[in-house]
Amino acid sequence: RTSAHAPDRPSIRVAAYGGPEALQLDELTIGEPGPGEIRIRHHACGLNFIDVYQRTGLYANPLPLALGMEGAGVIEAVGEGVTHLKVGDRAAYASQPPGAYCEARVMPAKCVCKLPDEIDFETGAAMMLKGLTVQYLFRKTLPVGGLQPGDFVLFHAAAGGVGLIACQWAKAMGLKLIGTAGSDDKCQLALDHGAAHAINYRSEDFVARVKEITGGQGLKVVYDSVGADTFVRSFDCLRPFGLAANFGNASGKVPPIDLGQLAAKGSIYVTRPTLFTHIATRESTQAMADDLFAMVRSGAVKIRIDQRYALKDAAQAHRDLEARKTTGCSVLLP
Ligand code: NDP
Repeated sequence: RTSAHAPDRPSIRVAAYGGPEALQLDELTIGEPGPGEIRIRHHACGLNFIDVYQRTGLYANPLPLALGMEGAGVIEAVGEGVTHLKVGDRAAYASQPPGAYCEARVMPAKCVCKLPDEIDFETGAAMMLKGLTVQYLFRKTLPVGGLQPGDFVLFHAAAGGVGLIACQWAKAMGLKLIGTAGSDDKCQLALDHGAAHAINYRSEDFVARVKEITGGQGLKVVYDSVGADTFVRSFDCLRPFGLAANFGNASGKVPPIDLGQLAAKGSIYVTRPTLFTHIATRESTQAMADDLFAMVRSGAVKIRIDQRYALKDAAQAHRDLEARKTTGCSVLLP
């Protein structure tokens, strides 16, 4: 159903896969929410590297595609059967399907959570997809025997949006996080946010440095979102029975792996998780969000927003993200 007096509202979409220039600003009429849906008016939308994969078609979706998977704002309308949200509520989400780069959208209510009063909209928009990802990586994507305070873990791209949240979360759990990043300044940023050690993987051999830092013991887990350039090499950083978790492809997709390698590297485990399995139900989404909200409210995790762009400048935001010019989180402002 389309409301007769609903105004057209700006939305960034992709008509054909391509570079940042493929992002176009369209004016769309946004309808009323159906059963199980809400309409939200965004105060801010989050920028994520996954948006790049969707723009280029590395992750394929039907076209035209409204981009963006994270946002925060105010609930404008509530569909039948939605009981956890009402009109006027402040809310934030990480969503599947995409469509957050817009002023307002209709979307499934199950992935939308009430935003605690102490958390502002920009923070809410920047932290949901990235923070829930760190939540499942550190609480649910675990090596044999789990993680204990004092354990070493490696986290690639530690000065990025997900990365700086991970540095702080790891410190709060008592983990010794070794972060990698692409410049000395970014390494310093990771250290300032709780990383125990930082390695500039463009100028140093991270495998050799990890061996040195861990006294030859190796790590229980490597969390890798860089993909092609780092994942397979990271196996050499693990101790026997260690876990290699690949959750992204910023440098390109990981090539096929010969299973025999896992035996040769010491009976290691490999996993390739996605947030969207973890937030498939309202209950799991809310439980994970409550954990994230508690981390942010306690001050243990601060959401650092280093880049702000007008919604219409989404293409520039993509250029900066892909050129590795950003640190921490970025938001788009409708
Ligand atoms: P980031 O802010 O971390 O940006 C990506 C970073 O990757 C860059 O800043 C850069 O840091 C590093 N990088 C390394 N090689 C390249 C390259 N060739 N091109 C571009 N960047 C490169 O992004 P996000 O915080 O949004 O996301 C981090 C990762 O987590 C992404 O890969 C994303 O897809 C993944 N992700 C996965 C989820 C899942 O559930 N599977 C959910 C959420 C995010 P540097 O210069 O320091 O190397």
